[in-house]
Amino acid sequence: MRVPLSKPEINERDISMVADVLRSGLLSLGPRVAEFEQSFAAYVGTRQAVAVSSGTAALHLCIRAQGIGANDEVITSSFSFVASANCALYEGALPVFVDIDPVSLNISPDCVRTFIEQFCEWDSAGTFLIDRRNGRRVKALLPVHVFGLPCDMTPLQNLAEEYRLHLIEDACEALGAQYRGRGVGTYGSMGTFAFYPNKQMTTGEGGMVVTDSDELAALCRSLRNQGRNEESCWLTHDRLGFNYRLSDLHCALGISQLQRIDDMLSARARVADAYKRRLATESRIVLPHSPIGCRRSWFVYVIQIKPVDSCSPQPLRDAVVMELRKRGIGSQVYFPAIHRQAYMKQFEFVVPQPLPVTEAASDACLAIPMYAEASEEEVEFVCHSISQALDSASATLSSLTNSAAVA
Ligand SMILES: *Cc1c(COP(=O)(O)O)cnc(C)c1O
Repeated sequence: MRVPLSKPEINERDISMVADVLRSGLLSLGPRVAEFEQSFAAYVGTRQAVAVSSGTAALHLCIRAQGIGANDEVITSSFSFVASANCALYEGALPVFVDIDPVSLNISPDCVRTFIEQFCEWDSAGTFLIDRRNGRRVKALLPVHVFGLPCDMTPLQNLAEEYRLHLIEDACEALGAQYRGRGVGTYGSMGTFAFYPNKQMTTGEGGMVVTDSDELAALCRSLRNQGRNEESCWLTHDRLGFNYRLSDLHCALGISQLQRIDDMLSARARVADAYKRRLATESRIVLPHSPIGCRRSWFVYVIQIKPVDSCSPQPLRDAVVMELRKRGIGSQVYFPAIHRQAYMKQFEFVVPQPLPVTEAASDACLAIPMYAEASEEEVEFVCHSISQALDSASATLSSLTNSAAVA
């Protein structure tokens, strides 16, 4: 049996909706774009949605639209996909990584506050928070709803208000998740979603900016379309823009997928429940947190390998990945911490304080197969294999340590 890490759910309706666009001849800047945007905004609960070519493009446009650039900083977490930090770097701004909460694995509001209190002060006019280490303006707070679990938005909103920070939500992994009864993406001034094939819904490639601000939405529509103004003619460019458009082919697939998003999310939740039941007795791992009071949207199912004798679980985790691969089961380290990526070494000031929780999580975490159509048999096979992989991986590792001790 081969079990992939993820698999898009594509049905005949999706295919015929895309085929209809092909037959229409209107492949880009056609009617499907606004239709997708309107149904998406209605689903998430914002006034506006702007379709773009990827989740990364959506994040980049948020940074640009909020006027964040050189000499600015954005507070975020390192336990994330690189795009949530890169979007600041694209504009010459610096991501500043603060630690995460050990239970939710999301940015810790307490760590945000500690960073601000230890390293920041108001400028003389009292308008901007300044990072004392380098004189940069701290302009935004960018929480990531990691693996579809909502961040603790109330304290984050309070911090954003108190310190006049733009609040930009990276909800790329969290479509359909709710915090205190309201959808994620509606808490910040702007939010982003993504539609790569491993996400809860897909357009092949694609992303969305959501906001309640008509002005920010209009600016993003111009920026994604080479800085054109919606009313002006084709070769008039009001500002420096990008080609971040999403084609009507992609949007048609998005419309069709969004129509059954709740079914797809429930199917993923059933897979998560099946994992929870079967893995409950496996004492060597920690299961994903299921908090009360918010609705999680399952992006990936991430377990953590417990440390043995207070040693880092990383060698064991990596050996489990190899064992699972031998059995045809896809798994992935989600996430290697961003600040440990080779290319991040060139940026100074990004890690103001040690990040012990982030580093421990990135040494322990392992994403196992998660997709709407995963069967009971597949889940059973994966869970059984995890226990066997842990057995044989710990046996191999302990024989290695023993022979090292003898030598
Ligand atoms: C998927 C994802 C994105 C966007 O990725 P794209 O591949 O550019 O669509 C951004 N942030 C996070 C946390 C993600 O998981």
